[in-house]
Amino acid sequence: EAAPEKAPVRSPPEVPPFEHRPRPYFGMSGDEILEKRKQFLGPSVFYYYQKPLNIVEGKMQYLYDEHGKRYLDCFGGIVTVSCGHCHPDIVNAVVEQTKLLQHTTTIYLYQAIVEFAEALASKMPGNLKVVYFVNSGTEANELAMLMARLYSGNLNMIALRNAYHGGSAGTIGLTGLQTWKYPIPQGEIHHVMNPDPYRGTFASDAVAYAKEVKEHINYGTSGKVAGFIAETFQGVGGAVELAPGYLKLVYDTVRKAGGVCIADEVQSGFGRTGSHYWGFQTQDVIPDIVTMAKGIGNGLPLGAVVTTPEIASVLSQKIQFNTFGGNPVCSVGGLAVLRVLDKEKRQAHCADVGSHLVNRLKELQQKHEIIGDVRGRGLMLGVELVTDRKEKTPAKAETAVLFEKLKDLNILVGKGGLHGNVFRIKPPMCFTRDDADFLVDAMDYAMSGL
Ligand code: PLP
Repeated sequence: EAAPEKAPVRSPPEVPPFEHRPRPYFGMSGDEILEKRKQFLGPSVFYYYQKPLNIVEGKMQYLYDEHGKRYLDCFGGIVTVSCGHCHPDIVNAVVEQTKLLQHTTTIYLYQAIVEFAEALASKMPGNLKVVYFVNSGTEANELAMLMARLYSGNLNMIALRNAYHGGSAGTIGLTGLQTWKYPIPQGEIHHVMNPDPYRGTFASDAVAYAKEVKEHINYGTSGKVAGFIAETFQGVGGAVELAPGYLKLVYDTVRKAGGVCIADEVQSGFGRTGSHYWGFQTQDVIPDIVTMAKGIGNGLPLGAVVTTPEIASVLSQKIQFNTFGGNPVCSVGGLAVLRVLDKEKRQAHCADVGSHLVNRLKELQQKHEIIGDVRGRGLMLGVELVTDRKEKTPAKAETAVLFEKLKDLNILVGKGGLHGNVFRIKPPMCFTRDDADFLVDAMDYAMSGL
C-alpha cells in the first residue's frame, strides 16, 4: 500500500541537554587513526560512515567523539553493550578484580568462574546446565558444532541461508550470507530456505519452510544429521524474526534425524526481546545447545556455550581447554551484567520501550513510502527500506544517505541485510522512550529531505 501524503518535517529534533561532560581529548585525530589503521590493520577492516567516527568515550546509551559531540547509540556498540556503556557496576567489578587477579586459567580453582556459571545456568530452561566459557560468538559456535558432530557421530550441519554465525574457517561455513563467505571448503554444511516473513518465498508459512528442511534432509543427506543451528532473530542478516512456529517443527524433524538443535543467542539473549529472556523462548522450544556472546559481557570479550550434561559428556574423552575462557576478569564482569539486568528489570524495560518504539516506527511507515517493513520485538528491531513496496526493491543508495544523515543528527544505528538496506536498532537496554522519540523524529526529518 502506498503511504499517504503527509507534511514533511522541516527542522531536526533538538538534541536534549546533557549533563555529562566528556573528558577533554588529547589523543590522535580520527584522520591520523584512520591512516594508521589502513597501514597496520589489514585491508578487510570495514568502516561505518564515509568519514569514520573517532569515538573516545561512552556513557550508558551515549557515545562521544573526539570533538565532544554526543551520539545516541542505537546499535549498542555492535549489540555488545547490553547494560550501557561503562555501566558503573560493571566497571567497578572489573576494576577491582583486575587489581586482585587478572588471569590464572582453569588449571587452578577460582571462585568467579563457578559463580558466573551457576548464575548463567540458573537463567536456562530445561536441562541446559553445563557451561563452557569462550571469548567470542565465533568460538562459541565452533564449540557447539564440534559437540553436535561428536554427539551425533555425523558431520552434516543444517543452517539458514541468511544466517551469520561467525567468521572462522569452521563457522564461515555455517554463515549463509554471501557477503561474508570465502570460497573455502564448507565441510558438510547445508543451507535451507530462510523463514523470513517479509522476503521469504513462503512468507510466514512455517509449515512450508519446515517441509523444505525435511526434504533437504531426506534428499540432500544420508537421512541423518549432526545438528541444526539458527538465530531466532537474525542479526547481521537484517533483523529478521523467523516465521512463528518454525523452530518447533524443525527441531522435531532434526531430532528425528539424529541431530541436536543449537540456538545462536549471540544477539538476542538476556531479555533484549522484551517478551522472553532468550530469543528461542519466543518460539516455545528448548534447544540442546545454546551459544551466546556480545551482550553477555557488556563489551568484554566473552562468550559461552550451555548444554545438557549428556551432550557435554562427549567432550570428556579429550582435554577441553580454552586459555582465556571464563578468566576472572570476564567472569566477574559477566556476573555483574546478569545482576544489573535483573536489578534494573531490563527485560520488562525492553518490552515497554520496544513496544512504544515499534508503534512510532509503524506510524512513520504510514508517512514514508521508503519504509517497507518494521519488525522485531523489544529492543531488537529492524526497519527495511525499499524503493518500491510491491517489488520490495532494496533502497541501497537511499539507506546509505539516511545513515549519514542520522549520524549528522547525533544518531548511530546499525546496518544489515544482504543489500545493506536494513536499519538495525538494538541500543543498550537502558534506552528510554524519550530516546525512542528522538530517534523517530530524526528519521522523520531525514526521510522528509530525501
Ligand atoms: N553469531 C551471531 C548471531 C552474531 O551476530 C555474531 C557476530 O556478529 C557471531 C555469531 C560471531 O560473534 P563474534 O563476532 O563475537 O565472533
